[in-house]
Amino acid sequence: MTAPPVDVHTYYRQITDVDIGEVARELLGGRIAQDSRQTLFCDCPNHRSQSHRSLHIMLDKQGWYCFGCGVGGDVLQLVEFVHDGAVTRGQSGGGQRSRRFGNAEAANWLGKDQGNREREVVLLGACLHSHPQELKSRTSSDINLLRAKNGLDNGVHFRARDFLAARAGLPPLSKLASGSPEAAEEAHQLTLRVHEALTALAEIYHQRLIGNAEVLTWFRDKYGIGQETIERLKIGFADTGDPGAARLLMEGPGAFTMRELAAAAFRPTAQDGLVPSFDGRIVFPYWSRGRVVFMIGRRTPWTPDHDWEKSKYKKLAVRNDRNHSHVAPCIRNDVLYNEDVLLTRPERIIITEGVTDCISLMEHGFPVVSPVTVQIREADWERLLPKLAGVKTVFICQDNEVSKAGMTGALRTARILAEHGILTTLAILPLGEKQQEARRQLREQFGVGASDDAKSLPLEAEALLADAKIDVNEFFASGKTAADFEAILEAAQTPVELAIGELSAETPEADLGRLLDPILAEVRRLDPIEQDRHLRLIQQRVGKGRVPVSVLRRQMKVVEISRKGTGKRSRASGRGPAAVAAINENDSGD
Ligand SMILES: [Zn+2]
Ligand SMILES: [Zn+2]
Repeated sequence: MTAPPVDVHTYYRQITDVDIGEVARELLGGRIAQDSRQTLFCDCPNHRSQSHRSLHIMLDKQGWYCFGCGVGGDVLQLVEFVHDGAVTRGQSGGGQRSRRFGNAEAANWLGKDQGNREREVVLLGACLHSHPQELKSRTSSDINLLRAKNGLDNGVHFRARDFLAARAGLPPLSKLASGSPEAAEEAHQLTLRVHEALTALAEIYHQRLIGNAEVLTWFRDKYGIGQETIERLKIGFADTGDPGAARLLMEGPGAFTMRELAAAAFRPTAQDGLVPSFDGRIVFPYWSRGRVVFMIGRRTPWTPDHDWEKSKYKKLAVRNDRNHSHVAPCIRNDVLYNEDVLLTRPERIIITEGVTDCISLMEHGFPVVSPVTVQIREADWERLLPKLAGVKTVFICQDNEVSKAGMTGALRTARILAEHGILTTLAILPLGEKQQEARRQLREQFGVGASDDAKSLPLEAEALLADAKIDVNEFFASGKTAADFEAILEAAQTPVELAIGELSAETPEADLGRLLDPILAEVRRLDPIEQDRHLRLIQQRVGKGRVPVSVLRRQMKVVEISRKGTGKRSRASGRGPAAVAAINENDSGD
């Protein structure tokens, strides 16, 4: 959790320590005309734009500029600009709201030629807030484009400030420093209250887990997650004890209203009651900027035996107008578990499948996120890719299971990340004795092989399939260390390297072309030096002298042409990564 800020300057740094792309997507979602790796081109809400793309959100520089309005700034000013059509700037006496201007610096910051519209960009730095700076005046025509143009409009600024503070998990500045009273915007107030309610609810559930030796033992035995981690992440147990969680939240210091609780994690009933989202489940809170923003619950032996409680994992309901209009819009299920780790700009990041896998890696000091499903949805990449700026390597570590469902998602993720210039490798968990034995029995008793679709099998086989699987959590729970996992990361390979690794000198001549087809298509996408390395790798695997590199190179070009020629020809014709990708897509919990 964030420590309370000691001064206004620190406070502002903390609330603006947020990815501007994320804020822009939240505020401008439907107005984003184009989304590139470095820039969001948006339709400005404050001038009538013909191009519909003159408001640029610069993801790499974490700033913005509207070429129509001729203003720009930081994330705080973006909030002001979008919410109020104004950008406040420093007034002496305003103290914390001073801004600095400078044409040359502005042009430099923008990295563009200086033109009329590009002058006078609000410059951002580490030290803008508590130190009054002199301002250069803007051209009057630019200023006239703004409805409320001066920093004297405190409301504009306070609203934006509190909005970012709520996002950052900090109380409003007025509660920390002596400031004038301010009216908060209702929508943001609700977001804040909802996150507060979830945070308080997590604490209640956490206390119930700690106070329930039976459930706590079950949880710890199953996942091997330590007490310290349980406490830090406020992992809890949603029991239906008395008094109910809703009553505690309404009567406790937070004094939450029914509306606020229904907006967070409860379902209102016709009888003016509130039904909690989770019943007899282990609850994992999602933390962001010091507050709980989402929750997922795992079934336990104490979960009631209802049809609607069958699924192993259950997430909080998100808003819809049909039957969940009571849910606040800020409850979002596209958030990754431990997503804030990306704000720390790690050089490497691990993406893993389950929430307990993620927690185990966090516990062992690895930078990790989890979509808590097999793969990150395509739509979510728009939001996530800018946050991966600076990440050199993404390691995908999925469950190692017979069906290879995890591998399917991993390959798709690898493809998307590779297209955005991020090296993505697959870290493969080694099988333990238990898994090897289960796989041997599956082969011998049920004829289930490594890449079969294992859906229609008898019950005994289902148990073996569960035993045949290993995930990150089980890897650590079995006593493995951080150093052991580092070794797995070191051995991680790209999908195409893995596919090449499956070739051998024993690969029959007749199969070779078919097997090489999808591999060569992937190699073709690489730059020339990497192409060369991969072609030599193929040659090494199938046996020197069997296929000259020049032939592989010619074949690679033919493959590409024939793929184009047949349109959407299946990439599943071989046993390479593409073939694996075609097997199935069922989600797997753990
Ligand atoms: Zn504009
Ligand atoms: Zn300062």
